[in-house]
Amino acid sequence: MENTSRIELSRSALQHNFNFLREKVSAGTLISHVVKGNAYGHGIAEFIPLAQDLGAQHFSVFDAHEAYRVKQSLLAPAGIMIMGMVQDEQLEWIIGQGIEFYVFDLERLEKALTWARKLGKQAKVHIELETGMNRSGFETDKWPYLLQFLSQNQEYLEVAGICTHFAGAENFANHLRIKQQVKQFRKGLSYLNEIKKPNTKLHSSCSAAVLRFPRTHYDMVRVGILQYGLWPSVETFISTEESEQDPLKRVLSWKSRIMNLKTVPKGEYI
Ligand SMILES: *Cc1c(COP(=O)(O)O)cnc(C)c1O
Repeated sequence: MENTSRIELSRSALQHNFNFLREKVSAGTLISHVVKGNAYGHGIAEFIPLAQDLGAQHFSVFDAHEAYRVKQSLLAPAGIMIMGMVQDEQLEWIIGQGIEFYVFDLERLEKALTWARKLGKQAKVHIELETGMNRSGFETDKWPYLLQFLSQNQEYLEVAGICTHFAGAENFANHLRIKQQVKQFRKGLSYLNEIKKPNTKLHSSCSAAVLRFPRTHYDMVRVGILQYGLWPSVETFISTEESEQDPLKRVLSWKSRIMNLKTVPKGEYI
């Protein structure tokens, strides 16, 4: 039975946006497709197969529940990374499944080690550094302990990534502050250089930074809003494109069947 009101995802629009993105980042940079918030409302179950069919290889989510939903929707193996919430009782499943996850406090790092040992399997952790957003990330004073802990436990902790997140990269008013964050991130990277392995991915860019700060792309970029065909802000649009034509295409459209049409004389009540 047809539902008379529906949401459609456009494969050609998504392909178009993926091509646009690929042009913005170098060939060696992996694109992690951010699908938190139920793929920004597009629906994880619908979006994942479509994105994979168009070449997506890595997905980022907020929590373990979303990671589970992505896993259920995969057509083929792909990287999954949790950027936010992990509860203690979810660590066993996350590590067991080889899902990557952010670590931004020592407690989570220690618990990850405990579970990795129990399971006899490496935990794939992304070390998030605080560089000025003040949401999550290891502050500078934790770096020495972090370095020591990770060096000592390499057998069970795989440093899959070292990362940070820029605060408000879509607004020009924040650019000076973001430059400070970039500086601080570089400091962290050189401090932690010892624990960086050939397969450790450095990453910091969201959509706005992909467009505005090419030097922050590193090994991987985390792209949400752009891939769906929307701009992080008016400023990013104006500063990216010289022509007035939008180079992105909206992936989502909402369609409904017309139920009834009437011709009503002018002046009648509606
Ligand atoms: C949401 C999010 C992104 C993606 O942001 P967009 O502006 O939608 O590209 C990247 N990184 C982190 C940590 C996020 O939380």
